[in-house]
Amino acid sequence: MLRLAKLGFLRLTQGTGISRLISGSAWRRHRLLILCYHGVSAYDEHEWSGLYISPETFRRRMEALASVHCNVLPLSDALRRLQDGTLPDRAVVITFDDGLHDFYQVAFPVVESFGYPVTLYLTTYYAEFNRPVFDPMVSYMLWLGRARQQLDWSEVFSTPVALDEAGRENATEAIKQFALRRGLTGIEKDDLLSRLAEHLGIDYQELCDRRVMHLINPDEARNLAARGVDLQFHTHRHRVYRSRERMFAELQDNRRRITSFTPNEPRHFCYTGGFYLPEYPSYLKEYGMLSATTCKMGLCTARTNPMLLPRLVDTEQVSDLEFRAWLDGTADLLPRRDVEMSGGQLVEEQLATQ
Ligand SMILES: [Zn+2]
Repeated sequence: MLRLAKLGFLRLTQGTGISRLISGSAWRRHRLLILCYHGVSAYDEHEWSGLYISPETFRRRMEALASVHCNVLPLSDALRRLQDGTLPDRAVVITFDDGLHDFYQVAFPVVESFGYPVTLYLTTYYAEFNRPVFDPMVSYMLWLGRARQQLDWSEVFSTPVALDEAGRENATEAIKQFALRRGLTGIEKDDLLSRLAEHLGIDYQELCDRRVMHLINPDEARNLAARGVDLQFHTHRHRVYRSRERMFAELQDNRRRITSFTPNEPRHFCYTGGFYLPEYPSYLKEYGMLSATTCKMGLCTARTNPMLLPRLVDTEQVSDLEFRAWLDGTADLLPRRDVEMSGGQLVEEQLATQ
């Protein structure tokens, strides 16, 4: 109901020209929209997870930026100009999280064709160990195998598990816990994935050859950096810790890899899974970070804490009307529910053996 009322309001503002007024206003000029993407499908990934959008939708978004004359800025310039009060009209920053291979294969060529700058928050463990990222690959393969209806895998499950939506969700969590409790290494987790594929009748090697659920490798990271992609922090292992020392070590591990891909010193952070503890902003500031982005929706102003910047997480669920309303700023005036943070990125110290 709330959504319908919102869409009605947005239609009204666009139809009456109010949105155009807001779009060119000083109010909007003092605000920055940071867009957040994860994956753009190389195959059918957007049918599997809300974190992926189709290449058609992504291209339409990039076209919308051009057609309403947004000024797409590099992240660090945009944040500096936000503070100085010198942002141009309809300022937008484009960010991608994680560094999935489809960024290299599908998304970046589109961004590049429009000449937009882009920031890639790169998590580096699976860039170096270039095999499928364990957690999403478990979920993706269970989805691929869903027509079988049941998974009979005695190594992990005492009884066969259902492969409907709820069953897959439980099974994904159980397999993740299985790996975590045993403290499996990256290679052991990769072996576990290949055994899961076997039990689902999936050709694991073929998925690997297509780089499904892979991150970009070091050569691809260097290639992107040379083509102007701004590589920034997203932790090495896509994990955060309670202790300041463990957090700093994680950031150092991430930094060491990123600086081997680019001569530019990374200074910006993106919270993994959007998750943060109240103490993280001060840890990050102390580490020397200039900004940190969350997955909370909203526009940034000069008064926004730079260590807690909101973004628009763009998904297939965001309609073209809503997307345009975010570009012109109207959407920021509407009430919205806060997105819940996923606590799954926080690793308690006793489990963090590898
Ligand atoms: Zn991430």
